[in-house]
Amino acid sequence: MSEGKAKQLFTTENPNEILVHYLNQATALNGKRKEHVDDKGIVNNQIDSLIFNYLDAHGIATHFIKQVSDSDQLVKKMTMIPLEVVVRNAASGSFQRKFDTPYLLEFEEPVQEFYYKSDRLDDPFINDSQIHALKVATAEQLAVIRDQALKVNSLMKKLFAEAGIKLVDFKLEFGIDADGKLILGDEISPDSCRLVDAKTQQSLDKDVFRKHTGNVMDGYRTVLDRLQATVAE
Ligand code: 5GP
Repeated sequence: MSEGKAKQLFTTENPNEILVHYLNQATALNGKRKEHVDDKGIVNNQIDSLIFNYLDAHGIATHFIKQVSDSDQLVKKMTMIPLEVVVRNAASGSFQRKFDTPYLLEFEEPVQEFYYKSDRLDDPFINDSQIHALKVATAEQLAVIRDQALKVNSLMKKLFAEAGIKLVDFKLEFGIDADGKLILGDEISPDSCRLVDAKTQQSLDKDVFRKHTGNVMDGYRTVLDRLQATVAE
């Protein structure tokens, strides 16, 4: 078993498959702040499973196999590429701080950024030539990652818009599966996306936990309820 910030990973009888268990745990500041949050694992597993099912159905190759219980899912084992791939549709978070822009300034085209995954280094920003120099990914892999991340953005923007939610920004991670194919992995949930109510601009994501502005689960449950209603239509 190995444990991340909000999930536990278990090997299974099939060496190419992993069982992911979602924990009732929220972290901030790269894991330095950690708190128990009732039902977070169940809600995030459901949101993530719904989104990965939706992406799979729309032609994105992902690690997702199936949801197996309230807080567990089965995924393909992958060798992860140590990159956090961030896509932004509007200014918030580190972008807003870095360039001192108005909150939710709309971008004409999505912004893409890469961060090198390293807890020790606090996930530093990394550019294409640094990725090349450190052999983090090949130019070919990087091109696929860029293309897939933009396709995921278009699909998710549409899905969330139908649910009355604005997709501000999010983080993806990719890896290589047993067949050598580059596919989308990790988690997509309000832990890894910035989501605001399209009408009120109320935060429905982990910013509520990061900024201590309310009960984080209210937003997460709203996201799940609205996505379930949208895909059921
Ligand atoms: P920012 O760079 O503004 O802090 O984050 C941009 C987006 O990527 C946000 O939606 C944020 O939730 C996500 N993100 C950035 N770093 C991490 C990380 O280490 N873990 C998770 N789960 N999401 C991240």
